[in-house]
Amino acid sequence: MRDRLYTTEAIILRRSDVGEADRLLTIYTPHYGKITISARGVRKTMSKLAGHLELFLHTRLQLARGRTFDVVTESRAVQPFRQLREDLDRISWAYYVSELIDKMTESGSENVPLFALLRDTMAAIDAIDEALRRDVIIRFYELHLLTLSGYRPHLFHCAQCERELGQDTDRFSPITGGALCPRCGPHEALALPMSLAAFKLLRYLARGSIDDARALAPSAATLQETGRLINAAIRQVLERELKSVVFLDLLRG
Ligand SMILES: [Zn+2]
Repeated sequence: MRDRLYTTEAIILRRSDVGEADRLLTIYTPHYGKITISARGVRKTMSKLAGHLELFLHTRLQLARGRTFDVVTESRAVQPFRQLREDLDRISWAYYVSELIDKMTESGSENVPLFALLRDTMAAIDAIDEALRRDVIIRFYELHLLTLSGYRPHLFHCAQCERELGQDTDRFSPITGGALCPRCGPHEALALPMSLAAFKLLRYLARGSIDDARALAPSAATLQETGRLINAAIRQVLERELKSVVFLDLLRG
């Protein structure tokens, strides 16, 4: 028989109120991936859990297995991310980071590196005071979220012909899945232009660690451009996922 109680680290992604005093929480964990859990009575002022299940919190939870949802019995903050809640720019990014991982992942599949990416991204948003440098972390997060979800954009070999890419690369194709060499680029009408600075930044972020990304200070224009390219790649993935869900629903009648 499975143990009734278990513990897990978690980041709280989303909350919704249920009934008089309960809440459902969507959390991301290292070993269970994304799961939805129930926090009973948490909205009562006397609840010992009140204030320990804030959005974006990095926490260690004790959970009891339940019939529909597992139920929180204890929460101990690991990293409270206080600064992250104190200004609008940081809060907006924290929402974005949470929403993106929520949309990109299925429930219940283990992905330890993805949990580490989420945790380290929240910690960086919390710690970095300069807005531009936080934007670099967001680009890092988007790129590695794609990679860890199985959609690594091609940045070192042409997404079409697999030839090694050099400094003359100037097209990025969200549909083909990454950068295109100068021979393939002109044949893809929907490929986006890409500057050498943006290409270099993407490659650096793809190869480096989050600490490498924290040390960078690229120009605002280059950051914006890489943002447009990665976001186009993310949209492509989300649309494909959405279509496959619709298709599966059709098949199942
Ligand atoms: Zn090519």
